[in-house]
Amino acid sequence: MAGDGEIVIRDIKKVFGPTVAVEDINLTIPDGCYCCLLGPSGCGKTTLLRMIAGHETPSEGDILIGGSSVIHLPTGSRGTSMMFQSYALFPHLTVLDNVAFSLKMKRVGKSERREQAFEVLKRVQLEPMADRMPEQLSGGQQQRVALARSLITNPKVLLLDEPLSALDEYLRIHMRAELKFIQQDLGISFIHVTHTQPEALAMGDMVVVMDTGHIEQSGTAVEIYGQPRTTYVAEFMGGWNVVSGTVAEVNNGEATIKGGDGLLYGAKASGEAVGADMNIGIRRDKIHLKRDAAGDKNSVAGVVHAIEYQGNWVKVTVVKPNDERLVAVIEDHEFFQDPATVGDNLHATWSIVDGRVLEKALGSQNLIGETFD
Ligand code: ATP
Repeated sequence: MAGDGEIVIRDIKKVFGPTVAVEDINLTIPDGCYCCLLGPSGCGKTTLLRMIAGHETPSEGDILIGGSSVIHLPTGSRGTSMMFQSYALFPHLTVLDNVAFSLKMKRVGKSERREQAFEVLKRVQLEPMADRMPEQLSGGQQQRVALARSLITNPKVLLLDEPLSALDEYLRIHMRAELKFIQQDLGISFIHVTHTQPEALAMGDMVVVMDTGHIEQSGTAVEIYGQPRTTYVAEFMGGWNVVSGTVAEVNNGEATIKGGDGLLYGAKASGEAVGADMNIGIRRDKIHLKRDAAGDKNSVAGVVHAIEYQGNWVKVTVVKPNDERLVAVIEDHEFFQDPATVGDNLHATWSIVDGRVLEKALGSQNLIGETFD
């Protein structure tokens, strides 16, 4: 039995004239899940969200909420509610009247709608501000009014389109925790569109990474960051280095790859044939820096180009002779045992088990210059 707020997206495609906005979208979002749709601008996140809400009609496919198709239902009858990026509060109405507005439209009596609006304001801790006008609130408070306004219809699914993007850095991080707390408190599904990787990792029970109208990978935050399936996901999520080459030999479950830079890399083989192209991802925190070469594989000589101290870790960028870069994230105590300085010649090394074979991306987004840092 599907829970009330379970969303099933089946073979969804949406075209706008000649533009394919999304295609081949298949996804199940469990009831009560905090799901983040993550991807660069134009990848189709908002289109997908708007189709769930009923603001767009799919060109193909079906959407089920709580086990029933909603494709032919109007926006107000799907059990969804949408919170927009611009809070779109009515400037001439008090906080309470803003929140109660949709009940007024449904002709709910005055005392009943005030009571319900107070209840929802309590949930977002804004009850004491019920009589204020929107302009008398901070950005974070306005956002909570917008949230309360979306929640008053008792949705099974709340849809949030870049809900934190108008807030400053400090408030954004504060509101991340608040939104997640409210979602857990209510126990309903939230689908949150964002193009910010740390936001999706911090908030999502489920993270769906999109690229040019496709889903590249979906899973828990730990899976998405720690086990990227494709080169695109590794580069887009950040925190990974990628080296490329051709399989030169496969022996005892280990592949030896000859890099485009002429170096040899080792990785656990997963059925690749000799001569196949291969990308290997290595997490930045799995790289160690040594003064001397460390064997014939996975030892990359380079010059230290930049060092950024970040408190409990240090980010070190090493440039190879062919100008490619490797980034290592070294724990502070390890770094300060033998601190490198810019211009030092070092070897970046990692163990074979830390090399992850990456598939080719499903989409075609060119990430060069856009990789998350
Ligand atoms: P952003 O983060 O910039 O909002 P997004 O990932 O939400 O981007 P969408 O807004 O869903 O992306 O757009 C996906 C694609 O569909 C884009 O190429 C966009 O130009 C196109 N598109 C979206 N809406 C329309 C429309 N109404 N008419 C024509 N093309 C559209």
